[in-house]
Amino acid sequence: MTNIVWIKHASQLATLAQPSKGPRIKDDMNNISIIRDGSVWIEDGIIQAVGTTRQLEEQFKDRAHEAVITDAKGHLVTPGLVDPHTHVAYGGSREREFERRLQGATYMEIMNAGGGIHATTTMTREAKEEELVQQTKRRLDSFLQHGVTTVEGKSGYGLNLETELKQLRVMKRLQAEHPIDIIPTFMGAHAVPTEYKGREEEYVDYIINEMLPAVSNEKLAVFNDVFCEVGVFTPEQSERILEAGKKYGLIPKIHADEIEPYGGAELAAKVGAISAEHLLKASDEGIAAMAKAGTIACLLPATALFLREQAAEGRKMIDGGVPVAISTDCNPGSSPTTSMPLVMNLACISMRLTPSEALTAATYNAACAIQMEDKVGSIEPGKQGDIVLWDIANYQELQYLFGVNHVRSVWKKGVKVIDRS
Ligand SMILES: [Zn+2]
Repeated sequence: MTNIVWIKHASQLATLAQPSKGPRIKDDMNNISIIRDGSVWIEDGIIQAVGTTRQLEEQFKDRAHEAVITDAKGHLVTPGLVDPHTHVAYGGSREREFERRLQGATYMEIMNAGGGIHATTTMTREAKEEELVQQTKRRLDSFLQHGVTTVEGKSGYGLNLETELKQLRVMKRLQAEHPIDIIPTFMGAHAVPTEYKGREEEYVDYIINEMLPAVSNEKLAVFNDVFCEVGVFTPEQSERILEAGKKYGLIPKIHADEIEPYGGAELAAKVGAISAEHLLKASDEGIAAMAKAGTIACLLPATALFLREQAAEGRKMIDGGVPVAISTDCNPGSSPTTSMPLVMNLACISMRLTPSEALTAATYNAACAIQMEDKVGSIEPGKQGDIVLWDIANYQELQYLFGVNHVRSVWKKGVKVIDRS
């Protein structure tokens, strides 16, 4: 039997639908295509029709009895949120480091003392695959509770072939077993593991000669990401790794200019990266190069907040023609959150995005950053029935009543997976 979901009478149905293709820039980011008294008809997980309630009542007048109806009167309805940058599949947690940082230690000091990424690497190497599945599943459940229906997930806490593959296999398993769509990124170049200290070039060779072929052979990743930063990977090393990944069909992404200006934004444009991440210290030239190349800026204001840093210049990037997406950066050291609504709030508060730009950055543009825009990120016929019904009446409230989870119901592929009504 056909499974039909019919959501009616939304006070605002923000469809995010636009005729143009590709990531949105400038004023297009403000156009979230609101239908008042909006209605969505979903059949077997796929959106069939979108319009006003009156239009859909007319269109489906002979089939209304087949549908499970949700009355969304007084509520905002949006696409499921998309988180295009997470490190969700990690072992352990690092709340004690958080305490140390608050007592004055910097992120780099903690990392150089064997903490940070290295501590999580040890815990992830030691975790059995099943344990890692269970830990990651709990985080994905939390994402769903915050209205997130698609996430990207990176490896990069293995830093050896065996554990990198383990992380990617965990994500592959969860893609099959969990309602959330999880899009995998290989990030062997997240840090230089301690056993390669002083032999960084050898580690780069190891990534290129052993990790990339194995990841490609098992078809475990779509993207290839590097941490291009002073003291981690140089722009030259990053370029070598990304160009090598391209030969296996892996699309480049770059953690760029987070801690110091280092030419990461420029490199993203040069290698044709789909997105550059963080960009707290990106240069004006780098931002201009990204605008010209159409590279998506994936901005992570919760990370900046958690590290007590100034957020990236999101306002300036949008005004300069860079397509902007936002993300939690969910990871155990610098942003252990799963709340995309909070990230939208911070995009407005600390980067001066408008409420509608923040919603675009967390849905359609976020989908573009992980090449999922044909399936998710907007409410349009033919796309997956990934929908959030919020306990508020309009999109401004979503960003204004900040720090609160307003999710009421979530559908993933037409199945109600969260119900707080
Ligand atoms: Zn990251």
